[in-house]
Amino acid sequence: MCYKNGKERRCRACNVVRIFLRKTLNIWYWRTLKIADPFAPTSQTCHVCGAMNTEVKNLQVRQWTCPSCHTTHDRDENAARNIENVAIPIVM
Ligand SMILES: [Zn+2]
Repeated sequence: MCYKNGKERRCRACNVVRIFLRKTLNIWYWRTLKIADPFAPTSQTCHVCGAMNTEVKNLQVRQWTCPSCHTTHDRDENAARNIENVAIPIVM
């Protein structure tokens, strides 16, 4: 899937990739494909309370404390949990 201005759009190349992934993941590995918006602010959003901290945009900030719920996050682990929550399973 392609995204333009944060909105999903479909194109021919995406459909080719989708068909390839469907066959590879479902037939050979029995997995479900999930796709997340690449522009979703997963690093900046607290996975506990959902509050956003725009100071985390700086890539050198590796650990931060949520100003709302005071939970301390590892940047990558927090982003991974948010991606898990926002990713949409694709029906092949
Ligand atoms: Zn929080």
